[in-house]
Amino acid sequence: MLIDILKETGALLEGHFLLSSGKHSDGYVQCAKLLMYPDKAEKAIKLIVDKLKDIDFDIVVGPAMGGIIVSYELGRQTGKQSIFVEREDGEMKLRRGFTLEKGQRVLIAEDVVTTGKSSYEAIKVVEELGGEVVGIGCIVDRSSGNIKYPIYSGVKININTYEKEECTLCKQNIPIVKPGSRKIVEFL
Ligand SMILES: [Zn+2]
Repeated sequence: MLIDILKETGALLEGHFLLSSGKHSDGYVQCAKLLMYPDKAEKAIKLIVDKLKDIDFDIVVGPAMGGIIVSYELGRQTGKQSIFVEREDGEMKLRRGFTLEKGQRVLIAEDVVTTGKSSYEAIKVVEELGGEVVGIGCIVDRSSGNIKYPIYSGVKININTYEKEECTLCKQNIPIVKPGSRKIVEFL
């Protein structure tokens, strides 16, 4: 099960977390911890590939940084090309001589999809160049179904986020942790 691999590699943490937005959550996903292990990453991304059997696409585009490795591995397993978009002056662009041809069918690659912000930025670049987005391939889908493109994911995970004042974990006096630090940052 992918969920077990995510837990054993530390890519999925459960508990009480202080997010950079100031919100609290009962879980945290950091796919880089899974991608540390190429063999496990290969298995996780194979689950996405299995769902893409009937999907016709020419090239995979991942938004930097999170999408690059996933895009590469999706390309490797499906025999397609893999490129990435990255920020220049705050805006997502194709750089390094990467191009798309009009009408090319594009799969967007992500590690995690939550709000879809970086996916939509990548999609905008692709569509402006005349590419046709067939969907988003991702390891973890946290979107709860609010993305307007088909999502092909390894696993769907529901993580609850709370405003500080409304956090049920705070009300239970569970110590809060800043993801990545593993240190308790405050007792509430
Ligand atoms: Zn809390």
